[in-house]
Amino acid sequence: MKPEDRSVVRRTTPPPSETTPLVTPLFPSVVYCAEDADALDAVYEGRAGGYSYAREGHPNASVLADKISWMEGAGQGVMTASGMAAISAVFLALLEKGDHIVAGNQLYGRCLRLLTQDLPRMGFEASLVDASDVAAVEAALRPETKLLLVEVVANPTLRVADIKGLARLAKERGMIFVVDNTFTTPRAFRPFDHGADLVVHSVTKLLAGHSDVTLGYVGARDPGHATALYDAITTWGLNASPFDCWLAERGLNTFDLRFQRAQENAKALADHLRGLPGVLRVLYPGEADHPDGALARDLLQGNFSHMVSFELDADRAGVNAFVRAAGNIAFAPTLGDVGTTISHPASSSHRGLTVEGRAALGISEGFIRVSVGVEDIDLLTREFTAAVAAARRAATRPETREVG
Ligand SMILES: *Cc1c(COP(=O)(O)O)cnc(C)c1O
Repeated sequence: MKPEDRSVVRRTTPPPSETTPLVTPLFPSVVYCAEDADALDAVYEGRAGGYSYAREGHPNASVLADKISWMEGAGQGVMTASGMAAISAVFLALLEKGDHIVAGNQLYGRCLRLLTQDLPRMGFEASLVDASDVAAVEAALRPETKLLLVEVVANPTLRVADIKGLARLAKERGMIFVVDNTFTTPRAFRPFDHGADLVVHSVTKLLAGHSDVTLGYVGARDPGHATALYDAITTWGLNASPFDCWLAERGLNTFDLRFQRAQENAKALADHLRGLPGVLRVLYPGEADHPDGALARDLLQGNFSHMVSFELDADRAGVNAFVRAAGNIAFAPTLGDVGTTISHPASSSHRGLTVEGRAALGISEGFIRVSVGVEDIDLLTREFTAAVAAARRAATRPETREVG
C-alpha cells in the first residue's frame, strides 16, 4: 500500500504479536467486520465463531457468561444489562398468552413490582406465596401455571426457600423452576444441582463485588431455554455492556476470597450482635433460632453467606442515631459490596408497603439489614457496638430506655 492510499480513519489492524495479553482485552466495538458476505453467513449460521453486532453478543459478555456458567454448572448462560433485565428476559422469553406464575412473596422489591403490576398489565397473573412452605406453593398452582420463581435466601428477612421440595413439585407439574441465586452465589448453593431449570443473578452484587457495575446473568440447563433467552435478550435489547462485563470479570477474580471472608465476618457479627443490649433478635440462616434453620443447614451445608439482619429496639430516632454512629459503615441500599453496607428496609426496599404489610413480614422500624464485607472483624464489632449503643441513647420510647 502506498502511503497516500492509507486511511487513518478506521482501517486499522493490530500489530502482529507472538504473545497474548494476560487480561481479557476490552472490546467496546459495536460491529465486527467480515472478509466477505460468505464469511458473514458462516458466523450467522454458527459454522464459524465470531460476532457481528454488539447487541447480539460480544467477547466480554461471552467470557464472563462462560465463567459464571461454569461456577453454576449451567449448560449455557447469557449476560444481561442488570439483574432485573435477567428476570425480565425469563418472562419475555418463556411466557405465552394466558400463562400463570407462582413466585415467592419475599422477592427483591422491583421483582415484586414486576409480578404484581407490570405483568398483570400485560395479561399475566402471578400468585405470591411463602416459598419455605411447599404445601402453600402447591395450593397456589393452577393448570396454567407455567413458571415458579423463588430466591434461595429472601430479602431482608433471610427466610429460606424449600428448594428441594419446590424442585420436586415443579418437575411433577411440568413447570419451569427459576431460582434467583444472588444472595447465596454458587459458592454457597448451586440450584442446578437441586433441580432448577434456570438460575438468575444480579451480578451487580457479590459476583462483581465492587458496586461499580450493573449487570445480570441467566443460566439454563436446557439448550432450548438458552436459545429462547438469547433471542429475547437480543430482541428486547436487554444486553450487557462490554465495559461492565470487563469490570465484572475483574471482580470475579477475587470473588472466592471475598465471599469466604465476608461469610466468616457475617457469622462472627451475628454472634456479636446477639450479645448486645438493645438488639431484639438477630437473623442469620442456619442458626438454631432462625425460622428456617433446619432447611438452611440442609441446603447450604454451612455456607450461610454474608447477609445478617437484626432488629433494634428503636424507633426512627434510634435508627438515625445508629446509622450516624456507624461512621465506617456505608448506609447504602445495596448489597454484595466489598465493604460492609447497612440498609433500613422500612425507608428503602420496603417503603412501598404499609406498616401492617411490613409487620406481616416481620419488618419493624428498627429492622436493619447488613451486607457484610471483608473488613477486619474487630473494626466491624467496634462499629456495631458503638452504633447500637447510640441507638439506645437516642430512642425516645420510654420502654426502650428501661431495657437492659
Ligand atoms: C439486586 C437484586 C436484583 C436486581 O438486580 P439489579 O442488578 O439491581 O437489576 C434481583 N434479585 C435480587 C435478589 C437482588 O438482590
